[in-house]
Amino acid sequence: MPRQIRRVATISVHTSPLDQPGTGDAGGMNVYIVEVARRLAARGIEVDVFTRATSANQPPVAELVPGVQVRHVQAGPFEDLDKTDLPAELCGFTSAVLRAEAAHDPGYYDLLHTHYWLSGQAGLSVKRRWGVPLVHSMHTMAKVKNAALAAGDSPEPAGRVLGEQQVVEAADRLVANTAEEARQLSDLYGADPRRVATVNPGVDLSTFRPAGTAEVRRRLRLPGDAYVLLFVGRIQPLKAPDVLLRAAARMLADHPELRSRLVVAVVGGPSGAARSRPEELQKLATTLGVADVVRFEPPAPQAALADWYRAADVTVVPSYSESFGLVAVESQACGTPVVAAAVGGLRTAVDHGGSGILIPGHDPADYAAVLYDLAARPGLRDRLARGAVRHARAFGWDTTVDRLLGVYTEAMERIEIPA
Ligand code: UDP
Repeated sequence: MPRQIRRVATISVHTSPLDQPGTGDAGGMNVYIVEVARRLAARGIEVDVFTRATSANQPPVAELVPGVQVRHVQAGPFEDLDKTDLPAELCGFTSAVLRAEAAHDPGYYDLLHTHYWLSGQAGLSVKRRWGVPLVHSMHTMAKVKNAALAAGDSPEPAGRVLGEQQVVEAADRLVANTAEEARQLSDLYGADPRRVATVNPGVDLSTFRPAGTAEVRRRLRLPGDAYVLLFVGRIQPLKAPDVLLRAAARMLADHPELRSRLVVAVVGGPSGAARSRPEELQKLATTLGVADVVRFEPPAPQAALADWYRAADVTVVPSYSESFGLVAVESQACGTPVVAAAVGGLRTAVDHGGSGILIPGHDPADYAAVLYDLAARPGLRDRLARGAVRHARAFGWDTTVDRLLGVYTEAMERIEIPA
């Protein structure tokens, strides 16, 4: 008889579910952890999220919603640590997690779900000490990232590849965002396909839903007749916001009559080693002669972000690599089609020709051509907008949690993997 799941320990070493996504190290993974934890709690499963404390002001325990606690674990200095410094702090982090659990009766947690390889590394020791199953989500993989680097971007270090390999070998179950990621886990890291479950992430369909564009545009001070292109996410080379700016410049060079209507909105904050990227991007906009049409906006909470999606004609996601691409699904849920690079999870997140357009590669001329076509053909935009809403409906977080619970149950039952 399988044991019931009462309490899950989630580990997210390098970024807290309380952080604002869209800047620094906070992005889709934070949203994922919050949305899944909330829904597990709603189904009566308590979730404790362990994350590294980054300020002396953080309380040891903070309630996210009833049933979900964020536990700030002290390991290393609070500030000024980069993600690349964190492997050295994992030992201290792991000990602190073990100490926190030791305050409870044995068997307090039924299962451990770790996110990103750093957390997976902590999870290896925790799993052994607690004797619980380890479920791991990679979110991104060094080998995949390194195979698709933006020009000038630094490759992920060999230590990360090794660390990921160890986690893949030790996890009871691996959760892949898409079938492609599941294949990559097997092909690149040798994961046993029987241990890999494909579970698509979701979208909060109550926050991200279509609503009157005209009213939203008034609020955001966008002209009603503007052609609005939107970029949302962390400003870093991997996300390629520069491709959108170059495409806008190209479009205006070929179709100068568009200048009076074009608005390019960039919502998000600095991230990665080159934290000055927004300034660099602003400089690039000036160099390209498009600074007058580009609006830079700070990271926005989810509800405010929904308004940006609603206000836009097209959301552009030109990333070099994307494990899934929540931004693409959120935009579609708001009724805004997506033009995206045909890479990774974006091929699942966007229905090419149905809810948006996928473009092979990162040549700004290709993006300019598609974006101009969409500017000139409102009928096509409307058709894709309707398709976008339909496509996004397939990705509710409740479905994600249903599937995850199946994976948890399998891991708990330690179902024998047939040879
Ligand atoms: N996001 C946000 N505010 C912003 C920019 C982004 O809340 O200003 C969120 C966005 O809603 C999405 C996540 O950050 O859920 C980004 O996820 P995605 O999968 O697109 O990219 P990742 O950050 O995982 O690389």
